[in-house]
Amino acid sequence: MAAKTFSGGVQVPHYKELTEHLPIREGPRPTEVVIPLSQHTGAPCEPTVRRGERVLVGQKVGDSEAFVSAPVHASVSGKVVAIEPRPHPLGGEVLAVVIESDGEFAVHPEVKPLGPLEELSPEQIKRMLRESGMVGLGGAAFPTAVKVSPPEGKHIDVFLLNGAECEPYLTADHRLMVEHPEDVVLGMRALMKALGVGRGIVCVEDNKPDAIEAMKKATMPHSELEVAVCRTKYPQGSEKQLIKAVLGREVPPPPGLPLDVGVVVNNVGTAWAVARALTTGLPLVERVITVTGPCVAQPANLLVRIGTPFSSVVDFCGGFASAPAKIIMGGPMMGVAQRGLEVPVIKGTSGLLLLPEEDALAQQPQPCIRCGRCVEACPMGLLPLLLAAYAEQGRFEEAESLRALNCMECGSCSYICPARRPLVHAIRVAKADIMARLRARRK
Ligand code: SF4
Ligand code: SF4
Repeated sequence: MAAKTFSGGVQVPHYKELTEHLPIREGPRPTEVVIPLSQHTGAPCEPTVRRGERVLVGQKVGDSEAFVSAPVHASVSGKVVAIEPRPHPLGGEVLAVVIESDGEFAVHPEVKPLGPLEELSPEQIKRMLRESGMVGLGGAAFPTAVKVSPPEGKHIDVFLLNGAECEPYLTADHRLMVEHPEDVVLGMRALMKALGVGRGIVCVEDNKPDAIEAMKKATMPHSELEVAVCRTKYPQGSEKQLIKAVLGREVPPPPGLPLDVGVVVNNVGTAWAVARALTTGLPLVERVITVTGPCVAQPANLLVRIGTPFSSVVDFCGGFASAPAKIIMGGPMMGVAQRGLEVPVIKGTSGLLLLPEEDALAQQPQPCIRCGRCVEACPMGLLPLLLAAYAEQGRFEEAESLRALNCMECGSCSYICPARRPLVHAIRVAKADIMARLRARRK
């Protein structure tokens, strides 16, 4: 059967050969962790511990009463040495709980495995998701308990497990599917049970044949599960493109959501983390990340404790092979550039990418030659050249009328542009202005 796909998008070099065959290893045992009180979509947490207090692995150190939020937990045992603003990988400084490890990694006594999935009610699973601080590990870090609680009147009939991992370089989800397919399936079934959904589809790009095979085998005993093979194309892992490719359904423009077309999407890393929380009782205190790029001495897929400094992760991988000119949290298309390595791994850290100067240098933009390649590449059916032109001229209302807010900042247009126009950057500026005006109107 032909692999499923969507219109638009770009073919990008994968660069996954650096790590795709490397088994997941346990990462560094940090001497100090920095747990930001905001590392998810929604309200930041308030600290629930005090400076000087001893904490154990899995103990809650921050929480919020807001519906859209997720508690944060200690990933090491030791002493809280500070609660203060610290640099955050998404920019600026954020209040964080700093814990000095005692080297024991002692687990809190209340951390206990939950009963078998068959014996848990949907409400018990939702409570576990909330209390474990579970968020989407694909990057957006949206609280999972909220995602599996659709508003009244929204009927969800399909759950998609996103194993596309379409960003170049990243291989953490790939390795989870190859090495832990049964756990990924257990987490997927738990999420489906919480939602009350009877059909689940694991979606994998066709450049991961070993993952496809492993997931087909693991889903075989479960008649409600199937595997869909998607054509390798960027941004196949974007929710809207995945839904279109696999189900043929169109998610309405913003504020439309997948649940408007009866779908919830979650990624492979999240399903695996849900299974871990069920079988060990441990909240979300660690995750698998890919550490990669030409400047890393020993690229790796690592299980890393949340709060571990990027510098410790790079040291664990043998340090630099050569001095990096660019450090990115995530992949090269949608990742976040970093100023240095002093920030911590957070729940949304899918990878750490270190690039040399030749890959990092922004080329000098040339005038637009009106080739139309950005239009062909845009998976949202937008006109990036016009959006960017309006943004550069400060004509934000015209950019708004051309649906600038539909842009998901995937970077396909900038990637394909032969004139190296900074299209996404310009569109981002327009979106920020439009959003500011919308917020002002609502006040
Ligand atoms: S791809 Fe670049 S050069 Fe071609 S139309 Fe778009 S902005 Fe212009
Ligand atoms: S306009 Fe936005 S959605 Fe379209 S290709 Fe560019 S970044 Fe992606």
